[in-house]
Amino acid sequence: MLNNRSISKKMVDLLGQAEWTPFRGGESEALKRLHKSISDKAWVANFEKPKGDPSAFLKPATTVLSPYLKLLWREFFYTTAFGTRNFDKMKGNPICKQIPWKEDHDMLAAWRDGKTGYPWIDAIMVQLLKWGWMHHLARHSVACFLTRGDLFIHWEQGRDVFERLLIDSDWAINNGNWMWLSCSSFFYQALPPPFYNRIYSPVSFGKKYDPDGKYIRHFLPVLKDMPKQYIYEPWTAPLSVQTKAKCIVGKDYPKPMVMHDAASKECKRKMGEAYALNKKMNGNIGDDDLKDLRRKLETDGESNIRNQRPKTQLKYLMRFDEIDIYKN
Ligand SMILES: Cc1cc2nc3c(=O)[nH]c(=O)nc-3n(C[C@H](O)[C@H](O)[C@H](O)COP(=O)(O)OP(=O)(O)OC[C@H]3O[C@@H](n4cnc5c(N)ncnc54)[C@H](O)[C@@H]3O)c2cc1C
Repeated sequence: MLNNRSISKKMVDLLGQAEWTPFRGGESEALKRLHKSISDKAWVANFEKPKGDPSAFLKPATTVLSPYLKLLWREFFYTTAFGTRNFDKMKGNPICKQIPWKEDHDMLAAWRDGKTGYPWIDAIMVQLLKWGWMHHLARHSVACFLTRGDLFIHWEQGRDVFERLLIDSDWAINNGNWMWLSCSSFFYQALPPPFYNRIYSPVSFGKKYDPDGKYIRHFLPVLKDMPKQYIYEPWTAPLSVQTKAKCIVGKDYPKPMVMHDAASKECKRKMGEAYALNKKMNGNIGDDDLKDLRRKLETDGESNIRNQRPKTQLKYLMRFDEIDIYKN
């Protein structure tokens, strides 16, 4: 098993550059922050959380009050957590969809350490490692990528990483949001088509807010000289550009561990099948049912790829240890 307790020393070595969270503790600090936010009347009047800029790190788009206090959503998640058996697990949790998530410790480690090869995702994970706080929609991006968006890894494993590293880490809120983001509970079927079809792109979502990639350049200095047209997809830059930017993809910065278009399509297919099984069994799914579904999904996945995809697109099945930079 991946040991999150061993993160600190390893990450300090890995990140090199010394940078500590800018969020100081204490009530006076929280009151100062609250006062600053609410005295800006125009900001308060126009605030719409889903439209906030997750890449605004020098002046975050939300209050950054979560390390100090918890509001409404806390009460929602606390109440639900109190009344729900096994709230922090998939198994035996009556409000949680049973989904045959994949076990892949290498992929999990790459996500955790900000080495997925997607700068938007990696910068967010580095902000988590260094600052212990990220914007809500940044959390959406990385939680979606790990689970139903790209890697199909269990939300409980992402939850563990957040629990260990967030400075606002909170048992009920964290578990609740991970279930929400992985489409395991809460908002999963609000609209037809189901919510699991709405996947955050690890490229275009961040670009919409921060086309120059300032956020990426700050948290991933290895990409600081990459021209803006390649900053979200550095593997598409010609070698001459990578050389000039002193960042060769596959050597100085990882290649993408999956190709998003194909990986997200595959995830949607798996979610569709898992949802159908949950419906058919009315949520009463045992270990064997899940095992059978996992086997079926893997077999179908392989034959789909074999029948439909030209060789170059098989990249998305590339395992983490096949990426050059991780070969010894
Ligand atoms: C996968 C995932 C895991 C998360 N884990 C945590 C966690 O462990 N602890 C935590 O406090 N928040 C968690 N959140 C919720 C949310 O991202 C943070 O509370 C928010 O980013 C804090 O920033 P802020 O104080 O600037 O928020 P603002 O938008 O300014 O909100 C003000 C306050 O409202 C509360 N709040 C806002 N959104 C949420 C929400 N979705 N759920 C619960 N409370 C909310 C917080 O107390 C916050 O301080 C998680 C979100 C996701 C998607």
